[in-house]
Amino acid sequence: DAPILIVGAGHAGFQLAVSLRQAGYEGPVGLINDEPHLPYQRPPLSKAYLKGGGSPDSVMFRPEKFYHDQHIELIADRAVAIDRGALQLVCASGASRPYKHLVLATGARNRLLDVPNADLEDVLYLRSLDESEKLRQLFTTRRRVVVVGAGFIGLEFAATARSKGLEVDVVELAPRVMARAVTPEISEFFQQRHSEAGIRLHFGVQATSIAGDGGRVSGVALSDGRQLAADLVVVGIGVLPNVELAGEAGLPVASGIIVDEHLLTADPNISAIGDCALFASERFGASLRLESVQNATDQARCVAARLTGHAKNYDGFPWFWSDQGPDKLQIAGLTTGYDQVVVRGDVGQGSFSAFCYKGGHLIGIESVNRASDHVFGRRFLAVNGSITPEQAADSAFDLKRALA
Ligand code: FAD
Repeated sequence: DAPILIVGAGHAGFQLAVSLRQAGYEGPVGLINDEPHLPYQRPPLSKAYLKGGGSPDSVMFRPEKFYHDQHIELIADRAVAIDRGALQLVCASGASRPYKHLVLATGARNRLLDVPNADLEDVLYLRSLDESEKLRQLFTTRRRVVVVGAGFIGLEFAATARSKGLEVDVVELAPRVMARAVTPEISEFFQQRHSEAGIRLHFGVQATSIAGDGGRVSGVALSDGRQLAADLVVVGIGVLPNVELAGEAGLPVASGIIVDEHLLTADPNISAIGDCALFASERFGASLRLESVQNATDQARCVAARLTGHAKNYDGFPWFWSDQGPDKLQIAGLTTGYDQVVVRGDVGQGSFSAFCYKGGHLIGIESVNRASDHVFGRRFLAVNGSITPEQAADSAFDLKRALA
């Protein structure tokens, strides 16, 4: 019996292996892992792990014994080609592995900064455990960091670096932080909080080159002619989905590996899930590629259900979180495309939510230090519920009543 082979042992791949066993699947399962660690969680890499003194074990999903006990074969290798006709996966080690069903859970990789001197040793990224480990060690020896990109990861890193006493500059081309992901109300709050913490934010500018001194970073030149001093540069300018394995095997790819509402590629023997998958969402009537733990794990569960005889369309409801300094941002739903924003709560007290509307219908809720609104949003929006903007703005309006 050929195994179900999973390429990539990140959030999606790991969850799929676990969910197959939980669903009672007894056939062989192989999890191809190209990283030099047991499968681990990424969110702590820019949060607790980066900040604290936890050991690498603290971010592992499970100890080695778990895989052994569950008969999940962890395969330390890298997939390099798919022979679809022969149902075989070719690996970097030279091994050809037969599969019954292949699941691509290859995730995404850092988008690289393309400016002169970006290859200097102290220009770093934050996606893997090794990168997080290296950065947290550098907190003790580095004084001034320039963070390129004010997205979630750039800001989480910036807040942690600042809390460790480093001088921090953040450079962002957009006019506000997290501009592609959140409403201006949320951006403004975080800008104020980061500024109060002593982080200097520079908007509407690009890093144009890295200045080096004897192979070491000494600064970052900006598009407006300024130069920021630095002995460390951390780049957080987004990721690129790992689609090459699929594309080279002749599977349709665009801004992700194209899958249908069942998360199947054009080949009935190959699925794709997680950060790498561009999926047909019935819920949103659009093709989406999402980068979140929720998306990776829910898609894994959906494919596990299909492979164990319980096929259903993927209908996961998106939610996300980001911890920046002492503040917790939580997002329920997809807030892109809104035409009205209503604030509930107290911005001054640092506890509020932005309720986002499109055509009078509630489509998403972004909450800052207001977990109850977020929990409401996840339950209520998942069933397409809506309350009026007036009700949302009225703190006396009981959200629980709307849920009932
Ligand atoms: P990944 O976790 O990227 O795993 C893909 C794996 O496949 C990798 O190990 C990769 O090396 C491997 N791989 C790729 N190609 C091959 C190949 N050819 N052969 C073998 N293996 C291969 N999301 C949230 O919801 N909340 C957060 O707070 C949050 N914080 C984050 C903080 C950081 C620092 C990072 C980097 C991400 C964060 N995310 C967060 C995003 C979340 O971690 C990702 O959406 C999630 O990891 C996606 O899971 P995945 O399995 O699709 O991809």
